[in-house]
Amino acid sequence: MSGIVIVGAGPAGIAAAVTAAQSGAEVAVFDDNPAVGGQIWRAGHSNQWIQRLSQSRARVITSARIVSGDAARQTLLVDTNGQAEEISYAKLILATGARELFLPFPGWTLPNVMGVGGLQALVKSGLLVKGKRIVVAGSGPLLLAVASYLRKCGAGISLIAEQAGLKSLAAFAVSLAAHPAKLRQAAGLLPRRYLTNCWIEAALGSERVERVRLRQGSRVWEEPCDYVANAYGLVANTELAALLGCAVENGVVKVDSSQQTSVANIYCAGESAGIGGVDTALLEGQIAAGASELQPKLHKAKSFARLLNQTFRPRAELRALPQPGTIVCRCEDVTLQRLRSTDSWRSAKLHERCGMGPCQGRICGPAIQFILGWEPASVRPPLFPTRLENLVQENSVK
Ligand SMILES: Cc1cc2nc3c(=O)[nH]c(=O)nc-3n(C[C@H](O)[C@H](O)[C@H](O)COP(=O)(O)OP(=O)(O)OC[C@H]3O[C@@H](n4cnc5c(N)ncnc54)[C@H](O)[C@@H]3O)c2cc1C
Repeated sequence: MSGIVIVGAGPAGIAAAVTAAQSGAEVAVFDDNPAVGGQIWRAGHSNQWIQRLSQSRARVITSARIVSGDAARQTLLVDTNGQAEEISYAKLILATGARELFLPFPGWTLPNVMGVGGLQALVKSGLLVKGKRIVVAGSGPLLLAVASYLRKCGAGISLIAEQAGLKSLAAFAVSLAAHPAKLRQAAGLLPRRYLTNCWIEAALGSERVERVRLRQGSRVWEEPCDYVANAYGLVANTELAALLGCAVENGVVKVDSSQQTSVANIYCAGESAGIGGVDTALLEGQIAAGASELQPKLHKAKSFARLLNQTFRPRAELRALPQPGTIVCRCEDVTLQRLRSTDSWRSAKLHERCGMGPCQGRICGPAIQFILGWEPASVRPPLFPTRLENLVQENSVK
């Protein structure tokens, strides 16, 4: 294989594949999920883009994870169910998406405390929430979308706690006048108890979460619940791009107006190039595959994305939520107290094994950056756990 390779079959990767395949190029799309669709269109979702992909000439390879790569040789190492294969590309489009930002607080590791998108994904995969009381908290429009989805599945949404203040939300609503469809969508999702300037201070319970302690200004109270869905927006998945030597700035892959990264023949589209939502991801995917006529449209979509990121940026008070005994690195059970005995990511990794577990710092890294201001350590292969023999094989090919 040496045509156009796309990593990620979410909206950005699908749009890139459909556009690239139209030009007659040889196209292959890899995604580590069992089905295409990415975060938003998972679990059997069907729409015009997914149909266009299935009707296109693009080859789709699912359950296939890129664990390493070499930009100089224009190769990637793909792990499919434990079997590794090296593939080459003439042009690479990275559309690796984003994950949720979790900021630790006492009790955040209790069973039934989950991410906002994470709980939605579990429900889409079959978890029954009918009759369950759910507190949805954190920041961003995803809280509204997910609460509405959970309600349709029969859950009782006790409340939505949005950390952003009323003033910045009001300014956001006014600016939405330039995006009337988004304004209508947001208004339709607003529930009865949408508390602004409000966040979870602690999750409480013995076997699993039973209630949360909430704060809104000086008011502090407890709310009973069966599940908590909590996240503070999204963090771009930049690890593969960084491994390939692409410049990463302010937490996202740096691209030019054609979505080209700082490395020749490598492009990036969607959330990994800037958190902007599904419309932006679709436009960027098409532009990365050559549809440069869409650039003016992208400009407008990006102004909305900038507005979103400003409005829902986590507030400084959230840095004080974790207590000395609060676990920050869930994989290796590293508490804030143990982290404070070190002075950088590197020494926390070396002395406390922070970020050395299965998630390789994807969850605790952004949290620690927010709480302690430490820059993440450089990315090393493998990006995900893989068999040792696969890495030996890759190195012997070089
Ligand atoms: C948990 C979660 C839930 C969300 N739910 C919603 C929602 O309900 N509504 C909404 O409007 N927005 C939602 N979003 C925001 C959503 O991510 C974007 O709007 C949109 O899906 C972005 O598209 P994308 O193509 O950039 O990324 P994604 O849809 O995230 O697609 C990226 C794909 O790349 C794959 N991938 C990443 N790295 C590799 C690798 N190394 N090898 C192989 N495959 C790889 C991922 O598994 C994923 O399938 C959610 C985000 C998250 C994180």
